[in-house]
Amino acid sequence: MIVIDEKKIFDEIEKRKPVSVALNGPDGILPKIQETATRIMEKFGIPAYVLADTCFGTCDINTNGAKVLGAEVLFHIGHTINSTSFGDNTVLVDAYDNVSFDDVARKGALELEGKTVSLVTDSQHLHEVQKAKAILEKHGITVKIGKGKGQLNDGQVFGCEFYPVMETRDTVDANVFLGQSNFHAAGIALATNKPTYVLDPYFNEIREVTEFAQKLQKKAILSVYKAAEADSFGIIVGLKEGQFSKTTALRFKKELESLGKKVQLFALTEITDDRLRNLKGIDAFIQVACPRISTDNQFDKPVLSTPQANALVKILKKESIEGFLQIPHWL
Ligand code: SF4
Repeated sequence: MIVIDEKKIFDEIEKRKPVSVALNGPDGILPKIQETATRIMEKFGIPAYVLADTCFGTCDINTNGAKVLGAEVLFHIGHTINSTSFGDNTVLVDAYDNVSFDDVARKGALELEGKTVSLVTDSQHLHEVQKAKAILEKHGITVKIGKGKGQLNDGQVFGCEFYPVMETRDTVDANVFLGQSNFHAAGIALATNKPTYVLDPYFNEIREVTEFAQKLQKKAILSVYKAAEADSFGIIVGLKEGQFSKTTALRFKKELESLGKKVQLFALTEITDDRLRNLKGIDAFIQVACPRISTDNQFDKPVLSTPQANALVKILKKESIEGFLQIPHWL
């Protein structure tokens, strides 16, 4: 069950006395955020708006939504990072999943016998890492926890940022992800090129995602080679504030034009196949927003992420693209 740190929210409201507030977080915890918003309205008698657009990370905080609503404080819930606020008006609030990993860690230990592993997780399960480590070690597994960097805490990953597992990559046999997210685990497998397992406490199972990640990698490489045959490119700047990367878009424009390609520039908030179908005269796209949009979704035409577009430029220059996804941050 997800538990939101409501005390932090209530303390902030008491201290700041806002006329209204907004709250947002990932889809999976929206029902809990609704309950918190209701409690705020009952306790303080002020409007509490739930910003219910998709919200995939601290890259996608939507302060603009709060601004348009006139909400003085935005509580962004459930994406724990190593800081507690963004600017003056956005407060980051922890939400943790109180499910126990004790049983699944014991089960996983049988399958991982004799191995050295890198233990890693997402925001909601960070508080369980040390306990799971102790259980695995008690059963003879050697466990390493890589250091955090940027916004990441030790042993934490995002869908596109993998510093802790990249630090341990050369000294472990496998990665072990605590949680349910095949999305995060596949990213870890892709970045490290190592066998990667999920310890899922809800299904009480250990599952390997290495093969799934290899399929994603093949698809990513295929798109790059297809794009290499294109004459006209659409380069898309993402309008979500933490994914905004105009400089990278303009760098790709310059590079592709110098290689004889035609380039148009676009901007989108949500990059979907439906939106791209409206755009004519484009053979392939590059989107410099969230890299996982390209690796994890299906599109009619090639839609490359930043690391894929870097690989494309190398192919066009007849350079090697080996290991283009084996980097700690896919931007
Ligand atoms: S994978 Fe996408 S949504 Fe997740 S942190 Fe990276 S840019 Fe944001």
